[in-house]
Amino acid sequence: MSATCDVLVVGGGVTGLSVALHLALRKFGRIQVLERHYVGAGQSGRAAGIIRSTVRHAGLSRWQTESAQSFRSLGEQFGEPIPVHPAGYLLATDRDHSASVDAAIQVATSTGCQVSRIDARQANDLQPGLRSDDRTIFAFEPGAVHLDPMTATQTLARIARTLGVEIVEGCEVRTLEVAGPMVRVATENGTVESPVVLLGTSCWMPLQMDRFGQPMPVRPHRAEMGFFQVPARSDRRLQRIVSDATSGIYLRPDGSDQMFVGWREGDWVKSLADCVAQDPDHCRQTAEFSTVRRMHQALSTTLPWMRDGFVHRTFACTYDYSPDGVPILDRLDGPAGVFLAGGFSGGGFSLSPFVGRTMAEYIDTERRPDDIAELSWQRFRDGQAIQWSNN
Ligand SMILES: Cc1cc2nc3c(=O)[nH]c(=O)nc-3n(C[C@H](O)[C@H](O)[C@H](O)COP(=O)(O)OP(=O)(O)OC[C@H]3O[C@@H](n4cnc5c(N)ncnc54)[C@H](O)[C@@H]3O)c2cc1C
Repeated sequence: MSATCDVLVVGGGVTGLSVALHLALRKFGRIQVLERHYVGAGQSGRAAGIIRSTVRHAGLSRWQTESAQSFRSLGEQFGEPIPVHPAGYLLATDRDHSASVDAAIQVATSTGCQVSRIDARQANDLQPGLRSDDRTIFAFEPGAVHLDPMTATQTLARIARTLGVEIVEGCEVRTLEVAGPMVRVATENGTVESPVVLLGTSCWMPLQMDRFGQPMPVRPHRAEMGFFQVPARSDRRLQRIVSDATSGIYLRPDGSDQMFVGWREGDWVKSLADCVAQDPDHCRQTAEFSTVRRMHQALSTTLPWMRDGFVHRTFACTYDYSPDGVPILDRLDGPAGVFLAGGFSGGGFSLSPFVGRTMAEYIDTERRPDDIAELSWQRFRDGQAIQWSNN
C-alpha cells in the first residue's frame, strides 16, 4: 500500500474498479484502490449480470446500451475478452400494464434500443415452455445480454492493474478525515493521504458518510437469489433472460442446465420504508428456506416444467437502495475532493462502464458531466427524485 496517491478509490467492486480504470485511461496520476476483502466480494460477485435497455427513462436506457457495448469491447480495446451471452430479454406481464410496457418500449426505442411487443406464440418460440394465458402480454429485446459478474469484475481489475492502478486487497478503510485539501484515510495497514477519494462501497457507504457528518440517503436491503437445476430427464432449457411480473421473478440461464433466479424487487420496493433492513456484516449469506420455497413456486408458475427442478444453491447479500432507485453520483462540498458513486438499487453492474467513464471525467475535469446532472443527491432535498420504471 502506498502512503500517498493522487486518487484513492475505496471499494474493489465493479463501480470502484471501473472508475479507477477510466482514470488510468485519462492518465490521472497515481491511482490506488483499497478493498477490505477480495475483488468482487460485495454485490459485484453475486449479481445476475443482466444488461438490458428496456427502461422507462431515456438516460438509463442509453447508459445500459453504452455499458453493454463497453463490456463487449474489452477484448478489442485491452486484449481481455469476456463471454457476453446474447440471450435477449423477454418480459411477461399482465395486460393491465400494457400502457406502461408500451411507454417503456417507446422510450427505449427512442434511444436506439430494439424492443417490441410480441404475441404468445412468438414468446413460446423464443422460450419454449414459458407460461401464457389470455391476460399475459409479452415484449422482447433481442440485444439484451448477461455476463458472469465475477469474471467481469476481475477482468476490470486485471486491466486496471495493467494500466498501473495499485489494487490492495484485504485492506479495510476504518476512518476518513478531511484535513485541508487532503483526505486522510486510516486503514488496517496504515494511513493514506490523497487529495481525491472516491467511495464505491455500496451498502457500506452510509457508515463512511456518517463520519463526514453527511448522512447518506441509502438503505441496505436484503437480497436473496437461487440457482435452480432443470429436471433430470427434461430436455427443456432456459434460453432467454425472462422477467415475469405475475410471478415476481426474473431469471437468466446459468451454464447448460441451471438458471439464476431473483426477485423483481422494484415491484414492491417503492420507497426506503419498504427495504428489508440488514447489517451487511452480520447477516445470513444464504436464502431463507421460506424464500427458496416461494421462489420455486414462482419459478414453476413462469416455467411450469421447472416444477420438477430443484434448488442447487442460494446466496444472500445486501443491496444499496436510494430513495428513487436510481444511483447517486456526486461530490461532497468542501476543499478536498470526496466523490461518491452508490445507491445502485440493484442495477449497478449494468451501469458500471457508464459510471466509470462519467465519474472519471468528473474527477479529472472537476466539472460535473451533463450526463449525470440529474444524479446528484440534492435531488432528494429539492424534490427532484427521478421518475422511471422497469416496464
Ligand atoms: C442478487 C443480485 C442481482 C443483481 N443483478 C444485477 C443485474 O442483473 N444487473 C445489474 O446491473 N445489477 C445487478 N445487481 C446490482 C449490482 O450487483 C450492484 O449494483 C453492483 O455490483 C454494485 O457494485 P459496487 O462496486 O458499487 O458495490 P460492491 O460490489 O458491493 O462493492 C463494494 C466493495 O466495497 C468494499 N468495502 C466496503 N467497505 C469497505 C471499507 N471500509 N474498506 C475497503 N473496502 C470496503 C466491499 O468489500 C465491496 O467489495 C444485482 C445485485 C444483487 C445482489
